[in-house]
Amino acid sequence: MAYNNDNIFAKILRNEIPNNTVYEDDSILAFNDIAPKTPVHVLVIPKGNYIDLDDFTANASTIEIGNFFSKVGQIARDLGVPESGYRLVSNNGENAGQIVPHFHVHIMGGQKIKEGSMARGMQS
Ligand code: 5GP
Repeated sequence: MAYNNDNIFAKILRNEIPNNTVYEDDSILAFNDIAPKTPVHVLVIPKGNYIDLDDFTANASTIEIGNFFSKVGQIARDLGVPESGYRLVSNNGENAGQIVPHFHVHIMGGQKIKEGSMARGMQS
C-alpha cells in the first residue's frame, strides 16, 4: 500500500488544516486530538510519510525511530501524565481501528482508563 498524500495528517503537516500544537520540531508534530477520549489526548506523528507503525519500524532509520519515541516520552512528561499513568496507543491497520493512514501514537491520560479500552473504544 502506498502512502496517501491526501490523508488528514498530511494536510495538517502542510498547514492546510489547523491543529492545536503541543510540540513541534524538525521531525515530529504533536497536537491535541480533535475528539479527545480522555482529558489528555495528544497525537504524535513523524513528519516523514509513514503509513503505520509497521511501515515506520520497517523503513525509518533507527535514529529516527529512537528520536520519535524519546520525544513521545518527553511530551508525556511535559503533559504531566507519567505520575498518574498514561496509555500509549498505536492502531496499526483497519482491523485495529486505524482511521488516518499516517503513523501516529495516541498519548492518553488524565483519568483512570478502563481495562481493555482502546483509543477509539473508551465507551466500552
Ligand atoms: P486512529 O483511529 O487512526 O488511530 O486515530 C485517528 C485520530 O485522529 C482519532 O482519535 C481522531 O479523533 C483524530 N482526528 C481525526 N481527524 C482529525 C483532525 O482533523 N484533527 C485532529 N486534531 N485530530 C483528528
